[in-house]
Amino acid sequence: MQRKSKEVSIGKIKIGANNPIAIQSMLSVPSYNIEQNVKQATELKNAGCDILRVAIPDMDSVKLIEAIKKEVDIPLVADIHFDYKLAIESAYAGTDKIRINPGNIGNSEKIKEVAKICYNKNIPIRIGVNSGSLEKHILQKYGKATPQAMCESAIYNANLLKNFDFTNIVISLKSSDVKTSVEAYRLMSQQSVYPLHLGITEAGTESMGIVKSSIGIGSLLLDGIGDTIRVSLTDSPIKEVQAGIKILKSLNMYDKGITFISCPTCGRTRIDIVKIAQEVEKLLENNKSKLKVAIMGCAVNGPGEAKDADIGICGGDGIGIIFKKGKIIRKVDEKDIVKELIKEVNLMTTN
Ligand code: SF4
Repeated sequence: MQRKSKEVSIGKIKIGANNPIAIQSMLSVPSYNIEQNVKQATELKNAGCDILRVAIPDMDSVKLIEAIKKEVDIPLVADIHFDYKLAIESAYAGTDKIRINPGNIGNSEKIKEVAKICYNKNIPIRIGVNSGSLEKHILQKYGKATPQAMCESAIYNANLLKNFDFTNIVISLKSSDVKTSVEAYRLMSQQSVYPLHLGITEAGTESMGIVKSSIGIGSLLLDGIGDTIRVSLTDSPIKEVQAGIKILKSLNMYDKGITFISCPTCGRTRIDIVKIAQEVEKLLENNKSKLKVAIMGCAVNGPGEAKDADIGICGGDGIGIIFKKGKIIRKVDEKDIVKELIKEVNLMTTN
């Protein structure tokens, strides 16, 4: 059952309550390069990113917010460490959300000012607890960054905002250790109704990073926990978005785009199904229909094993077979199989 969290608006995107899980990523171009940041923001939006975070390390980089918002229709999150003035200027510049930990801002007057402008402009604040940067008093109490310590840090920071009646809050509890993160989010889900931003931090390069993120984010989503996700990879942010989409798709939580099924191949395979599957996925990557498309290695088991699919192909020894819901609809020359499948999919999605 989905955990009941509070609804929070980040620009035009709503998270929490019964809203779809939003996919986030972060710009990776140096903040002084406005043109390249705008270009990357456009690419990320086109790749399926719902909410985009941008690092604001200094006053000069606040300009990025206006520049991106002018060109790209995507909610922006200003990522700020320590300097409350950057948060205030980012709010004036039109950011849709701020990621800052109030415990790092300094005295309560500064926290009050940030809370006030965010309240007036309806800008939520994400408290980003990271296992590597817990408050000293919490680390002393727990000895290390345990899930309990991370939760206590989130509540401590949330209360600093609550003191000024600010509750438009999102929480993340990221550790590079999957188990610690999952446990921290599970604990937090029982202690508050704030929406949760899921992620495994410093997850690694593409392959391991995707495995760690899928297990961490996936386990929580299966528990009904989580309102927005970010896959962190030491790689292009486009890959983070693609991985996020795949995690949601694998859990039937993403309703845009084709779901592919393909067999692992075996000794019965008499067709280059690896190449064909890659080609079909590439050709249909921008198709927004909800079809299930199967690419199977043999006619003996293919149609039956993929009878769930709306349409599929299999083949071998020069013959290509097209089937719908497990029933063969026609046979084509093997070399035309991809072309004929795309034709069928287009007919199904335009009718
Ligand atoms: Fe093997 Fe056919 Fe199953 Fe693919 S569909 S794994 S080729 S039996």
